[in-house]
Amino acid sequence: MYVMKFGGTSVGSAERVRNSAAIIEAQPLPRAVVVSAVGGVTNLLLEAAACAARGDAEGQTAAVAAIRARHAEVASGIANDADRLAAIAILDQLHAALDDALAAVAAARELSARDSDRIVATGEKAMSVMMAATLRSRGTPAVHVWADRVIATDGRYGGARPNRERTRAQAAALRPGLEAGVTVVMTGFIGGAPDGSTTTLGRGGSDYSATLLGAALDATEVQIWTDVPGVLSADPRQVADARVVSQISYDEAQELAHFGAKVLHPRTIRPAVSQGVAVRILSTFAPEEPGTLVTRDGVGSHVKAVTALKNLLLLTIDVAELEDLAGASAEVFAALHHAGIEIAAVSQASSRRRMTYLVDAASKGGCVRVSALLDEALAQSEVDAEVRCEEGVALVAAVGRGVAAHPSAVARMLAVLGRAGVSVLSSSVHESNAALTAAVPARHADRAVLALHEAMIRPQSSNGHGRRPRRSVLLAESMRVG
Ligand code: ADP
Ligand code: ASP
Ligand code: MG
Repeated sequence: MYVMKFGGTSVGSAERVRNSAAIIEAQPLPRAVVVSAVGGVTNLLLEAAACAARGDAEGQTAAVAAIRARHAEVASGIANDADRLAAIAILDQLHAALDDALAAVAAARELSARDSDRIVATGEKAMSVMMAATLRSRGTPAVHVWADRVIATDGRYGGARPNRERTRAQAAALRPGLEAGVTVVMTGFIGGAPDGSTTTLGRGGSDYSATLLGAALDATEVQIWTDVPGVLSADPRQVADARVVSQISYDEAQELAHFGAKVLHPRTIRPAVSQGVAVRILSTFAPEEPGTLVTRDGVGSHVKAVTALKNLLLLTIDVAELEDLAGASAEVFAALHHAGIEIAAVSQASSRRRMTYLVDAASKGGCVRVSALLDEALAQSEVDAEVRCEEGVALVAAVGRGVAAHPSAVARMLAVLGRAGVSVLSSSVHESNAALTAAVPARHADRAVLALHEAMIRPQSSNGHGRRPRRSVLLAESMRVG
């Protein structure tokens, strides 16, 4: 069993959908497909909802018109008349339901997370209908399935957590069709809460849907088909000479995704780990390329990729007395957890009176809100602590299993950053981690990624032309030992 996921760019137009359909048909049966919304449509849906909530009827109408136009263009590529008309009829129902939901938001002048998820799910639902119809019109038996009846989640709208057992039971209903040779096209990104309402798994969540479905169906391999030829040694939009990493381990992939490599949603790997499902990242623009294979073992213990997580806040908590540190930490963790703020990294200063937390809260009110939250929590618990918060921070990470085990690894990373003129705000490493990380000012993030890539990755491919290795090459060699 194969599960094949196609991202927004890969289903971004009638032509891209045809191209992806051909890739699907080349894969042996049984196979399930997971689709994202047409590229850009998720943002348009969120924009329409935001416009409705603030009473901007003009903006809402423009966004809805753009969504309909994108869907009409993709639907126009369904070759067979009957299949196309049947798909358009379902799209009309989806668009009518979208209009109703937006009208309700506009009337209430308020957008709940629950309504937002129902609205934004329209994008994936429409795409699943159009992909299944495209396959059928090419003579490939296919059906669409909406994941609010397959991927069981809790009710945390906007970032729902899956229930693996219930998902497994619900996915079993897909088996007879799959085994009869029908390609099942499921919506990515969405799930269903216990009360039957639609949830989403968070932006970029279709990758996660694919591995959740793969684990539930005991798939041999989950394929993430995207717009780059695999996991690269850095984001190609940042580093022009980034190259494909042919094989990585689950823990390396998890670190990469966690530290900002957008090619995989941060939670994608977890379901694959428990079931030992192989994950492969492939390009719909170069389907013959081998891509990146993610498995339990991976290969080597060198730095495989450099990433940056931007838009973070750096929280510093100073306590007067050493014995207050544990109490202050407990309050901070609880307050951040209740506010739904994710912690990217935590470290303790050597004085043991200071903890630093890098948190992802730029979209949750920034320092103003987070500082207020923590001040209140600490005051209530009567812990004597001082909170400071800094915005515009990035976390850069050099990812590779074993790289942190070498005692001088951090010093070497800091040397590379220092030479590049990057100021390091904090750095922490645990020898069992599959990444070296440093917090830097966000304005230095791109420079930091370039410098680390140049020193730790580029030499692995451009070394060995009979020239004396450059200093960065020697440095990279010693990093790789670590
Ligand atoms: P999809 O719509 O297929 O889910 P995404 O845009 O979510 O695609 O993810 C693919 C993008 O991830 C690439 O276009 C690339 O810019 C970005 N990216 C960031 N870091 C990496 C990396 N290390 N390797 C590959 N791509 C990366
Ligand atoms: N369409 C959703 C998004 O843009 C989910 C995804 O593409 O993975 O976030
Ligand atoms: Mg994505």
